[in-house]
Amino acid sequence: CGVFGIWAVGHSEEAANFTYLGLHALQHRGQESAGIVASDGETLHVHRDMGLVADIFNAEVLAKLKGGAAIGHVRYSTTGASHVKNAQPLAVQYAGGAIAVAHNGNLVNAEALRAELESQGSIFTASTDTEVVVHLLARARPTGAPGTVEHLLGSIRQALGKVSGAYSMLFMTPKAIVGVRDPMGFRPLVLGRLKGNWVLASETTALDLIEADYVREVHPGEIVVIDASGVRSERLFPEQRPATRLGRCVFEHIYFARPDSVLFGRSVYEVRHSFGKQLAKEHSVEADLVVPVPDSGVPAAIGYAEQSGIPFAMGLVRSHYVGRTFIEPQQSIRHFGVKLKLNALRGVLTGKRVVVVDDSVVRGTTSRKIVKMIRAAGATEVHLRISSPPTAWPCYYGIDTPTRQELIASTHTTPEIATYVTADSLGYLSLEGLYAAIGDERTGFCDACFSGEYLIEFPKRPAQTPLR
Ligand code: 5GP
Ligand code: SF4
Ligand code: MG
Repeated sequence: CGVFGIWAVGHSEEAANFTYLGLHALQHRGQESAGIVASDGETLHVHRDMGLVADIFNAEVLAKLKGGAAIGHVRYSTTGASHVKNAQPLAVQYAGGAIAVAHNGNLVNAEALRAELESQGSIFTASTDTEVVVHLLARARPTGAPGTVEHLLGSIRQALGKVSGAYSMLFMTPKAIVGVRDPMGFRPLVLGRLKGNWVLASETTALDLIEADYVREVHPGEIVVIDASGVRSERLFPEQRPATRLGRCVFEHIYFARPDSVLFGRSVYEVRHSFGKQLAKEHSVEADLVVPVPDSGVPAAIGYAEQSGIPFAMGLVRSHYVGRTFIEPQQSIRHFGVKLKLNALRGVLTGKRVVVVDDSVVRGTTSRKIVKMIRAAGATEVHLRISSPPTAWPCYYGIDTPTRQELIASTHTTPEIATYVTADSLGYLSLEGLYAAIGDERTGFCDACFSGEYLIEFPKRPAQTPLR
């Protein structure tokens, strides 16, 4: 998912318009539903629907979202069905007043908390983990009078003190916007500034679009409050020590984030480019062309071509009218056919030994079709190179990877996968190579989907030893 928030009270009444643009730039993070909640200082105005940002909002809808502050959300489901009742931001009225919540991440103990809350009489309208946070907020008993920032922060701390997992979250009341990032910092969140106004967004590309300046990341375990008195930062949990182990999602760098974002302090494009260079060092091969699987494989393929000296060519063309298959929740559509999304260029590929570069292999079904398509277009050899290690473990922290059984690398060795996808050879980037390319310590990141080393415990953890 993606989140965006802007506080422009007193300067602009167009917070919802900026949020619309911000969400548009974050559309790659979720294509199922989107929503904006705007505050006019007294009331929260809400609009949420299924579909793409550009289809949900028009001038008429945006005009109704009055006010100088707004938060927004684009969703793809990790928990809870793809249904409008699960669209965010959630907006409720409770004893503390009106509040809206937008969440990127996944809470690992939400089911248990929900069962406990339900047994105590809470009624849930949606099936997302985020609604649990809203209930916990309503039950919090902090100091300070309801409606004050002190009360709000106390409630947020008490609520988030009970949950575990990944959350980059925005809260908005009629008087303030609050941004928080969980102590391990799984999902990104950045702070920006637009002509004296404060902006929060999942990725810097949203800041670029509205011509806001990137100020810095919201730190893991930080809570940022934006209201009439400006911006201030505190620790989310006052007792928390400076973290020695962070869990920033390395898969954001590999696939999820946009290449034009600065993520966890580094350019995503630069990082992917160096993944490709490292991949060429680890898995060189004699070939005539380096071809990316667009769009996700492009920066790594450029790096591979540079490092290897093999010419780069766009041997596959991508339809711009097909979304990210990764976040397409319906298997039927995912399997509708790679052909809908990609076509191979016969004139480029005929008679060539081709290195195909992609970011990841998940089920292996797409890769198999791509390899076959390239061969059918006349390539004499197809060597598949993947700019991440084998994806062998499901993610429980906000990326919707399939179950272990569906992940081809959890049940097959690399040579077996090469055979399955019908490639002449297959090479994955090593875990060491991944961090060498990022130029950072592994202790700053989560890589559980590759290593099986889960940083936060959760129920029904799969067997720790890979199947083979
Ligand atoms: P596969 O060969 O595993 O079917 O598909 C791999 C390719 O599709 C990669 O380009 C990857 O970006 C994308 N993809 C499709 N489905 C998923 C998914 O569920 N998770 C991830 N990480 N990538 C996927
Ligand atoms: Fe990211 Fe993988 Fe960790 Fe999930 S398990 S947070 S996808 S690195
Ligand atoms: Mg891809």
